[in-house]
Amino acid sequence: MLNNSENSNGSQRALYEFVEELYPICRSITGDGVRATLRTIAREIPIEIKEVPSGTHVLDWTVPREWNIRDAWIKDAQGRRVVDFRAHNLHVVNYSVPVNARLTLDELLPHLHTLPDNPDWIPYRTTYYDEAWGFCLSQRQLEALLPGEYEVVIDSELKVGALVYGELVLPGTSDDEILISTHVCHPSLCDDNLTGISISVNLAREMLGRTDRRHTLRFLYAPGTIGAITWLHQNRDTAHRIKHGLTLTCLGDNHPFTYKRTVTGKAEIDHVVEHVLAHCGLPHQIIEFFPYGYDERQYNSPGFRLAVGSLMRGRHGQFPEYHTSGDNLDFISDERMRESYELILSILETLDGNRTYRNTAPYGEPQLGARGLYRALGGTSIPNLQLAMLWTLNLSDGQNSLLDIARRAGISFHSVRTAANLLVEHELLVDA
Ligand code: ZN
Repeated sequence: MLNNSENSNGSQRALYEFVEELYPICRSITGDGVRATLRTIAREIPIEIKEVPSGTHVLDWTVPREWNIRDAWIKDAQGRRVVDFRAHNLHVVNYSVPVNARLTLDELLPHLHTLPDNPDWIPYRTTYYDEAWGFCLSQRQLEALLPGEYEVVIDSELKVGALVYGELVLPGTSDDEILISTHVCHPSLCDDNLTGISISVNLAREMLGRTDRRHTLRFLYAPGTIGAITWLHQNRDTAHRIKHGLTLTCLGDNHPFTYKRTVTGKAEIDHVVEHVLAHCGLPHQIIEFFPYGYDERQYNSPGFRLAVGSLMRGRHGQFPEYHTSGDNLDFISDERMRESYELILSILETLDGNRTYRNTAPYGEPQLGARGLYRALGGTSIPNLQLAMLWTLNLSDGQNSLLDIARRAGISFHSVRTAANLLVEHELLVDA
């Protein structure tokens, strides 16, 4: 389906396995789960890990106290753990304050969260900015609770500590940057967003081996919202170098691709993603920007206006498994993750290969046969290459980028880029 996978075999092998490895870790917006996740990423790619102390003012926010949890349970009168954090880390409302109490069922009920419509799944709930506590359990577990007294323990801790994030910058020949941003704050949930982390890490590893790059690539692994806000605060003066970006999320499920545009909807990243999707042969849809969802809303805020779109398969909040224990290792597949990986690799290659040229023989059509170009076309299986060459010669007046040409011609960028390479080689195109 895509033409650029020849060099990427090594990077793809670990997509699903990496999710499996990260799945058991109890992450949150701060704490040791994020540190463990970043250490695991650091084993694969040389990220820099940064710690920002609790209480630091970041844009309009404050870095919260750090949350860690050792254990939690609800025990019945017989001392049995009827709800057990060790069985699933979604059982505790993320960021719950510590508790150690004996409560009747009626007293306990307001602290329990279930999904009556999906009675076997545990919901994912958080209480980052409210001091509260709670448990999440399946509706079936709830229905099995008998009246009586329960021992309720959450062995957690909120203390002055740090927010942690990781990033990797791979310099290109230009300061212009492409940002790939993924959140790292969700506990045992796969599609949202261990698939994004795994794909980003594997892309970074692939790009480590490629040095012929114009753009600087920045891979960011930060907790949702507060992590992106912290990063933007710390990079306020240089953030404008980000010319194109994507947040990656929910990329391993069976839904068609969805691309959410940047706030203007007219950025180069919008045109590139839409073009690559149109030529990938897979079902997809394009949706407009809205200020919710993932960290694209921080990057697109009016003070920054960074052209960051969002690529996903299943959409935020729009599939039943979203933010439940149904978003598990069975909900995603290596095959869907590989498709996502190839698609994003193609997007990165298109962004980097999108140049504007000038035809050096613009008076009439240059004689392609005499210049050996028909011979050069002969040995290749790239579709529409001859037509791509004619379009590229015609539109390379210094005004149209190769992507503009591909869009106008209805030919894949890969074919136009290949044609342009031949024309540059034969001195019929120069940088505009
Ligand atoms: Zn989420």
